[in-house]
Amino acid sequence: MTKVCKFGGTSMADANAIRQVKSIIQADESRRYVVVSAPGKRFKNDIKVTDTLYRCYDEVVSTGSCKNSFAIIRERFIEIVKDLGLSLDIESVLDKTEEQINKAKSADFSASRGEYLSAIVVSAFLGYEFVDASEIIRFDSHGKLNVDYTDDKVSSKFENLERAVIPGFYGKNFQGDIMTFSRGGSDITGSIIAHGVKADLYENWTDVSGFLVCDPRIVENPKVINQITYKEVRELSYMGASVLHAEAIAPVMRKKIPINIKNTFKPEDRGTMIVPNDQYKADSIITGIAGKKDFTVLLIEKSMMNSEVGFIRRVLSVVEHYGVCVEHLPSGIDTLSVVIDSHQLQEGVLTDMVNEIRENVKPDFIHVIENISLIATVGHGMARRAGTAATLFNALAKANINIKMIDQGSSELNIIIGVANTDYEKCINTIYNAFN
Ligand code: ASP
Repeated sequence: MTKVCKFGGTSMADANAIRQVKSIIQADESRRYVVVSAPGKRFKNDIKVTDTLYRCYDEVVSTGSCKNSFAIIRERFIEIVKDLGLSLDIESVLDKTEEQINKAKSADFSASRGEYLSAIVVSAFLGYEFVDASEIIRFDSHGKLNVDYTDDKVSSKFENLERAVIPGFYGKNFQGDIMTFSRGGSDITGSIIAHGVKADLYENWTDVSGFLVCDPRIVENPKVINQITYKEVRELSYMGASVLHAEAIAPVMRKKIPINIKNTFKPEDRGTMIVPNDQYKADSIITGIAGKKDFTVLLIEKSMMNSEVGFIRRVLSVVEHYGVCVEHLPSGIDTLSVVIDSHQLQEGVLTDMVNEIRENVKPDFIHVIENISLIATVGHGMARRAGTAATLFNALAKANINIKMIDQGSSELNIIIGVANTDYEKCINTIYNAFN
């Protein structure tokens, strides 16, 4: 049995948290490969090491040296090493790192050093070998992960290595320079390692006991999701649930390796299991509810639209021409709704785009609806089960919430509705209560 464990920023925040990490790893000998983040926040207004490292880069660009900002990094790691009682010569490592940041003049290089230093400390504390992510993770000339190269490297590196600590968040680009994933990317590193070593389980240790059915800032004390499929996580993450980096699913999915989201500070909690469809046993009709505010809907109506060849393509080519992404495209016989994230619409773009659509497809009318929230009710259990939509829509009708758009994909994995931004919180509460 092999488990890959990734520990997030709060699990690395100070010596106490790192001691807790050690006890978790030692409690199960199959926890062989450990991926770590940079130290995160210790308290509410604390600053994450990664954020300070981006400041180091800014300081290098403006003054030629990261001296002032790096002093904060230095102090933080010296304190951790001292509190852990390690004999590691961290001062020398820090001196070298500071020098390299000054020389590299690269935001990615600078930001990556938080994970690098974390992994050096944790490997010394656990007595596990340190394996630099730059040796095994490679990006291509488009900045995308070079999957084949990376897979080969990871599997050959760990074939004869029983245990190791690996820094998350970065690899090397095709030119040999350090490059990071997007923020929160250590989750992706963990997934890549789990895939490469053919792990039985990828444990993602964080500071919450798994995915919640919905945002606790909106619904009081929502339930934890016990089990969820890869696809459902993708739907929920797209809509704003942020427990796991959205790109962390793909690598483990290829080998159907489950992910267990666990809480470092409550290791006894079961957490959430993310599994492939064929391992999923539905225990509730809906799995989760997530949403995002601020969409714009272009409601286009034209009678006999359905028999006009190329209608949708012509509408979309105008949208594409403005470099705008379409989020959803629900359609009826004579209507088409183009749903766009409002943040994409720079001043003036909306009016120009609508005028061009008018010219191109001569619709009966175009109605622009702004300040729309999209709310997705996600659940494998909904498929082929009569009455789910009725429960949802009845509850919303009773709560007097006007639904402005409905989109149910044919996968029946979710129902997305559009409501006014002002109804957003009420709508999520109503759906949660209808199913719980
Ligand atoms: N340290 C990086 C960040 O703060 C990456 C990570 O923690 O996953 O985004």
